[in-house]
Amino acid sequence: MNNLNMPPEYGGRAWIEIDLDALAFNAAEIRSYLPDGCKLMAVIKTNAYGHGMIKCVARLHEEGIDEFAVATVMEGVLLRESFSDIEILVLGYTHPKDAHFLHTYRLSQIIVDGAHAKELDEKGFALRVHIGIDTGMCRLGILAQNLGEIESVFSRKNLIVDGIATHFAVADSLDKADVAFTKSQIDSYYSVVESLRSKGHDVGKLHMQASYGIFNLPNIKCDYVRAGIALYGALGNDNEVLVRPNLRQVLSLRAIVAQVRWVDSGKSVSYGRTFKAESPTKVATVSIGYADGVPRQMSGKDAMVIVNGKKVPIIGRICMDMLMIDVTEADDVKTGDIVTFIGRDGDEVVLCEDLAAASNTITNDILCRLGGRLPRIYLCGDEGGG
Ligand SMILES: *Cc1c(COP(=O)(O)O)cnc(C)c1O
Repeated sequence: MNNLNMPPEYGGRAWIEIDLDALAFNAAEIRSYLPDGCKLMAVIKTNAYGHGMIKCVARLHEEGIDEFAVATVMEGVLLRESFSDIEILVLGYTHPKDAHFLHTYRLSQIIVDGAHAKELDEKGFALRVHIGIDTGMCRLGILAQNLGEIESVFSRKNLIVDGIATHFAVADSLDKADVAFTKSQIDSYYSVVESLRSKGHDVGKLHMQASYGIFNLPNIKCDYVRAGIALYGALGNDNEVLVRPNLRQVLSLRAIVAQVRWVDSGKSVSYGRTFKAESPTKVATVSIGYADGVPRQMSGKDAMVIVNGKKVPIIGRICMDMLMIDVTEADDVKTGDIVTFIGRDGDEVVLCEDLAAASNTITNDILCRLGGRLPRIYLCGDEGGG
């Protein structure tokens, strides 16, 4: 249970812990909200939002999930090398020159417009595609009103249409105007689907909701939902949801104290001298920085971390590989003590949302930037994770 008592090879300077049981728990929780016949497609782009793609997919696949979404063709290739019997959908744009990867690695591809379909088709590989419909996000996809362009995809001889998708712009809000906007997106999506069906096209699988859409629009009947952030248990607190699911934070972020010193009143700490001690202050230097994914914008925002079971603030500018915390109020902090940036230590917890709020961003942004160089430790079953 006590993740903090770990052998040294677990840690070193800084590391990420992933609780795979929590991931499985969240998948079950999300599935409990889905209407009959609707499946959970797990969005595992950007290395599963920093959680490690292969390990997360292995566990989710064990839990009976067979559909996965990535953002790039190379993420799909990497995933296929480890898993032969799952469906993989590439959500982002794939350049036609990479069409052979889609074919060889059996990846389904979102079609972003009529020209994309034509160029992919001309490469001569049999490809499975989902048509992206732009109903108001204004990002990727064929405009819902351009029915002719949408229909043209069905005439491409190498493309097999397996599905049709759209994406919401404000599904994370219950504001009246936002709800009306989402409703207009749903209506134009269904009108495209109906038109295509009336012309005899088989549109395949329907999907539109990402995480917030699942909990704010629970009555939509589709074949898939595409859940990312909810799987990792990090829905933002500021976002309104009709139903607040019971999710568990999957990821913890920890680092160790490298040095401790007393700083006299009037002395400054870190670059720019933005923090000045108002009284004698006990300062610990922690071996993690913005290169590891602790946002530099969080500097000076009194963001709290946990050390020896007590919450203490980050002080001064966050450096590339280190940062400083004020441990005057904490219990006898010394070199080697573990500092928790996301996760639980004793009775205290820091949520990913807390970091997101202190750095003016969203949990997705925090998570996917974590861990270029941080090792990941996977906890499951008896090993802990609670
Ligand atoms: C990233 C993404 C998702 C998952 O979004 P979450 O909010 O993390 O659940 C779903 N659909 C598309 C098209 C995406 O790009």
